[in-house]
Amino acid sequence: MDKNLEKQFRAIVGADHFTDVQEDLLCYAFDATREQYLPEAVLFPGSVQEVSAVLRLANARGVPVVPRGAGSGFTGGSLPLKGGLVMAMNRFDRIRLIDTDNLVAEVEPAVVTAKFQAAVETVGLFYPPDPASYTFSTLGGNIAENAGGMRAVKYGVTKDYVRGLEVVLPSGEIVHTGSACAKDVVGYDLTTLFVGSEGTLGVVTKAILRLLPLPEAKQTLSASFSDMGAAARTVSEIIGRGIVPATLEFLDGASLGAVEKHFGLGLPTDAEAFLLIEVDGDQAGLDRSLNRVRSVCEKNGALEVKVARQKAEQDELWRARRAVSPALRAISHYRMNEDIVVPRSKIPEMIERIQQTAEKYGIPIISFGHAGDGNIHVNVMAGPAGEADLPKMKKAVVEIFEATVALAGRISGEHGIGLAKQPYIGMNLDAPTLALCRLLKKTLDPNNILNPGKMFPSVREAH
Ligand SMILES: Cc1cc2nc3c(=O)[nH]c(=O)nc-3n(C[C@H](O)[C@H](O)[C@H](O)COP(=O)(O)OP(=O)(O)OC[C@H]3O[C@@H](n4cnc5c(N)ncnc54)[C@H](O)[C@@H]3O)c2cc1C
Repeated sequence: MDKNLEKQFRAIVGADHFTDVQEDLLCYAFDATREQYLPEAVLFPGSVQEVSAVLRLANARGVPVVPRGAGSGFTGGSLPLKGGLVMAMNRFDRIRLIDTDNLVAEVEPAVVTAKFQAAVETVGLFYPPDPASYTFSTLGGNIAENAGGMRAVKYGVTKDYVRGLEVVLPSGEIVHTGSACAKDVVGYDLTTLFVGSEGTLGVVTKAILRLLPLPEAKQTLSASFSDMGAAARTVSEIIGRGIVPATLEFLDGASLGAVEKHFGLGLPTDAEAFLLIEVDGDQAGLDRSLNRVRSVCEKNGALEVKVARQKAEQDELWRARRAVSPALRAISHYRMNEDIVVPRSKIPEMIERIQQTAEKYGIPIISFGHAGDGNIHVNVMAGPAGEADLPKMKKAVVEIFEATVALAGRISGEHGIGLAKQPYIGMNLDAPTLALCRLLKKTLDPNNILNPGKMFPSVREAH
C-alpha cells in the first residue's frame, strides 16, 4: 500500500488503531482453518463513521477490506485472501441496551456471544444461539455466518433472533434494516439478506436481537450405544414422535475416544455412539419429556441411559461435547472438517453412507454434531500415511457431498462457504440462483473490495 494512502487510513481511525507491524499482521492472518494470508495492515475502527470513511476510501482506491470478529470461522471467511486491510471490529464491544419490556437487545458486533448470554440471563432472559465457540466467537461473526449451535433443534439459529441491523455498505453508505418491532414488513427483508452474507455485502456495526424468557429448568440425559445405526434411529424416532428437546447431540466412538484421550472427562470409550440430550421448559413438564426420551433410547437398545441431575454433572457433559473439535484437531494436522446437513429423517442413511466412504478409502472419518437438526460435522482425517492421504481425503469429501445432495441435504449447515467450500457451492445452488447471488454482490460491491475471493467459485477448483 502506498505511504500516502496508508496515511489517510491511519488518519481516519487514529494512529493507535492502525498497524502494519509484521508481528501484529501475523495475528490477523489466520482463522480456524489453519490457512494463513497476511494483510497489508489491520485497523480497528471505533465508530460507524470511521467504518464508513474507511470503506469509502478503500472503495475509491480498490483496496480489499476483510471484516473480522474473533477469527474462529471454519471456512476462511475472515482470511485476507487478497491482502489489503483487515477491519478488526474489537472496539465495537458494547451491549447498548437490554429491553426487558420488549424482549430485545441492541448490541455491537464484537460482543462475545457467551458474555451477551450471561448478561441477558441476569435479568431472566435468554438468547438461544449457542455455537460451540460461544466463549470466544462474536455476535458479529455469528450474524455474518448465521451461526447455529446445539440449541438449534428447538430454538433455531442466529437468523431467527436478528430483528434489525446497522450495516455499512462497501460504498461507505450506512443503512438500517428491520426494527425492534415484533412485526415489520416495510420494504424488502434486507436483514435476512445480510445475515449469513459472510462479510461480503456489508459490515455490521449494530444489531437488534430478539430475546426469550429464560426457561425455568433444564435437564441433561446421556445414552450410549454399541452401534451408530441404533443411535441414528433413536434420533429420528425422538423427532418423529414430536418430542422437541432443546439439544440433541451425537458423538461417534472415535469422537468419544479423542475427547477422553485429551481431556479425560470420563466418557464411555467402549461405546460406538453417544447421545447428549437436553430438555428444558417448566419443571412440571420436564420429567415427562425426559421419560419419553429415555424410553425411545431404551427401545433402540441403548447400552446405558443416564440422567445428569446436578448442574456440575450437566456442565461436565456439555464441556465434553464442546471439547470434540479441539480434541480432533490434536489428533492429526490433516483434517477436513465438513458440516453437512440432511433432512432429519435421513440421518441413519447419511451415517451409513459416511461409514461406507470411510471403508472405501481406508481413512478415518469421525462424525459428531447436531443430530437433532440433521447437521453432522464430518471430519475426514488422514490415516497413518499422513499427508499422502490427502488425495483420498479430497475424494471422500466429494463423495460425502454427493451423498448429501442425493438425500436432499446441503453442503453446509452452519459454517458457511467462505474459501473452503466455494468450489462446491454449485452442488446446491443451480446456475440461475448462483447468478442472482453474484448479481447481488456486484450491485452492492461493484469494485469487489469487501472480502473478495470468498463464497463464489473463483479461487479454488473442485477436487
Ligand atoms: C471450536 C469451534 C467450535 C465451533 N462451533 C460452531 C458451532 O457450533 N456452530 C457454528 O455455527 N459455528 C461454530 N464454529 C465456527 C465459528 O465459531 C462461527 O462461524 C462464528 O460465528 C464465527 O465468529 P467470529 O467472531 O470468530 O467471526 P470470524 O471468524 O472473525 O468471521 C467470520 C465471518 O464473519 C465476517 N464478519 C465478522 N464480523 C463481521 C461484521 N461485524 N460485519 C460483517 N461481517 C463480519 C468475517 O468477514 C467472516 O467472513 C466453531 C468454531 C470453533 C473454532
